[in-house]
Amino acid sequence: MEHSIIIVGAGPGGAAAAVRLGQRGIKNVLLLDRDDFPRAKTCGSGLSPNALKVIDELGIGAEVRQQGYPIHSLILTTPGRRQIQLRTEQAATILLREQFDNLLVERAKHLGIEFRGGMKAQALVREGGRVVGVRAGGEELRSKHVLCADGAHSIFSWDPRPKRTISALMGWWENFAFEPGTLEMIFDKNLSPLYGWLFPETADRVNIGICMDGEDASGNKTTRNVRQVFDRFLDDHFADRLIKARQIGKLKGHPISYCTWIKDATTPGAIYLGEGARITHNTTGEGIFQAMLSGTYAGDAAADVVDGKLTERAAWQGFEWRCRKRFTLGFIGGHALRWALKTPLLDGIATAYNSPLKQAITWAIASSLAGSTMTEQKARPRNRSSPSPSPTRSTTTQIDHVITST
Ligand SMILES: Cc1cc2nc3c(=O)[nH]c(=O)nc-3n(C[C@H](O)[C@H](O)[C@H](O)COP(=O)(O)OP(=O)(O)OC[C@H]3O[C@@H](n4cnc5c(N)ncnc54)[C@H](O)[C@@H]3O)c2cc1C
Repeated sequence: MEHSIIIVGAGPGGAAAAVRLGQRGIKNVLLLDRDDFPRAKTCGSGLSPNALKVIDELGIGAEVRQQGYPIHSLILTTPGRRQIQLRTEQAATILLREQFDNLLVERAKHLGIEFRGGMKAQALVREGGRVVGVRAGGEELRSKHVLCADGAHSIFSWDPRPKRTISALMGWWENFAFEPGTLEMIFDKNLSPLYGWLFPETADRVNIGICMDGEDASGNKTTRNVRQVFDRFLDDHFADRLIKARQIGKLKGHPISYCTWIKDATTPGAIYLGEGARITHNTTGEGIFQAMLSGTYAGDAAADVVDGKLTERAAWQGFEWRCRKRFTLGFIGGHALRWALKTPLLDGIATAYNSPLKQAITWAIASSLAGSTMTEQKARPRNRSSPSPSPTRSTTTQIDHVITST
């Protein structure tokens, strides 16, 4: 039997494409993944306000907010160890990927999409220069179109450019003291221009990780030992809080693949999307929002061809154009941010928090990191010698004083 569309990979990109095809009423769509679901994915599991907008469009906003841990505030630690605290108007959410990805797949199934887990795609089937299906699980599955959403290690991407990556390493801890509803982003000199993070997943569980460039300026793989850098990061920033904490499972490492100009994301018969097409943010490493949005664009493009509204060529061009229009400026902004983060700018802002100009710059930087509008209220020094807030302590006072510094 020939499918109308096969989607390879049921991460946020592939599953969002499936949901969009279901919403558009496209029949005979197959979503496949090498893993059975629910499955774990190495990820900070942070859903930005932008991501939540797409999630609402996909129809699972209520479930995600109900199961996720809401975030209203962000503490930025500068390379010079000063701190700035800001509050978001619109909450972000942390939801473990195992749960989040499964919610999306269940939503796709509810809309009539066939899902097959535990089915690894080995190759694309081509005929006369056109993709006409997928070889998977020993079978040749034929389809009019294929959407490739197989993530950072994509074996199907045909982008010939050398890969640019962020190396990330992370772990999970319970009984870890943190300020409720607050993300921490730490711009440590050892990670420059990237950062380490603490994301609370529940009232008692956090994930902590670091990200650093996977290549040097000439594109050669960096030889730094990420594990050693992470150990030092934990010692430098969390030694006191780790004493009573209990680590859950092992540390997990994974690359994040990014680009600035989205290119070679289509070929006759197929579209590449999400991280398989390198559509992630080069400084924050955010990729869930980009995967879902490019997934909905790919779903729309394929639906337009199946519905006879557009030729495949026009629909594929439209897909690349929509992706570039939505993401390129942010990716260029990411490079500007990388440059700014290598200068003492962030430290200068934190020192002179009373200057309205510097508060405005902080607002712009924090908003681009958080992907949403940040609210400034009163400014007040943050007392680093005071003990870390316990998970049970009320945070009303801290939230009232949203821009702080030592
Ligand atoms: C440590 C770390 C922390 C991160 N934190 C965040 C964060 O907090 N917020 C955020 O927005 N982003 C974060 N990211 C980035 C984010 O995880 C990815 O960009 C996002 O998952 C990309 O979605 P995707 O659907 O394109 O690919 P993926 O989520 O990687 O999904 C790809 C799917 O394809 C399947 N697959 C792969 N190959 C095959 C095959 N041959 N056959 C069948 N199936 C296949 C896989 O099993 C997988 O389910 C983080 C990344 C890392 C590494």
